[in-house]
Amino acid sequence: MARHLARIHGTEEDKVNCPFYFKIGACRHADRCSRIHHRPAFSQTILIKHVYRHPVREAELRAAREGRSVDGAIVDEEKAREDFLSFFEDFFEELSKFGRLEALHVCDNLGDHMIGHVYAKFSEEEEASDALNLMNGRYYDGRRMEVEFSPVTDFREARCRDFDEDTCRRGGFCNFMHIKPVPMCLIRDLEDEAEDERRREEAERTERRRREERRDHRGGGDHRRGGSRRERERKGGGSSRRGGGGGGSRSMSRSRSRSRSGSRDRGSGMG
Ligand SMILES: [Zn+2]
Ligand SMILES: [Zn+2]
Repeated sequence: MARHLARIHGTEEDKVNCPFYFKIGACRHADRCSRIHHRPAFSQTILIKHVYRHPVREAELRAAREGRSVDGAIVDEEKAREDFLSFFEDFFEELSKFGRLEALHVCDNLGDHMIGHVYAKFSEEEEASDALNLMNGRYYDGRRMEVEFSPVTDFREARCRDFDEDTCRRGGFCNFMHIKPVPMCLIRDLEDEAEDERRREEAERTERRRREERRDHRGGGDHRRGGSRRERERKGGGSSRRGGGGGGSRSMSRSRSRSRSGSRDRGSGMG
């Protein structure tokens, strides 16, 4: 019995658990779904909901504001592509501060339950948990971020293979993930930068610790204060890879230095 239930969990055969929520982490029926959406208490993957501004939706909103028909909504494909890559870089860099990213996927879907979704999978649950705690409720490009743990850890099950082959006939309203493609070379660059950053922070932490220890050895009367500072340092360093306190807050307002950012005109940094 138990084995049978495990086998059908999250499949069409499963009359209790919603297969869409199980596989894709999003279901068009949302809270009105007749089957259960089992929300994980922990996961390696977080979902940042509706944070990417889909160019088609943005164009429609613009047309509506200007009193034109939605059919007249025009998307500047080249600008949309540039904006998307900047968006991707922003999120890759920001999320990498919490740990190593195994995947970062932005949905191209247009359905209300999936539009603008961003999935980030970390190598450790603890990193995902840190990211969720710090990102949830912050703003990006004027949007308040709503972040939750996602049951999706295997994107092969979640993604639409037809979209990957450019043959999905359901278009933007497909219920499987249409993952926006990102050039592999950009991902490699971002991974390398994130790795460098992690190494630099680790070296800084080590150096700081060494300095504290030297001072403790020298100073006679200062033992008590030095000791407690070291204590704090140890606690801060042990809890996450971001290091003690300062790392987290500094990350909020760091200006970007990448050369591509010349094209950015919205000042869309996280706040
Ligand atoms: Zn459902
Ligand atoms: Zn599709």
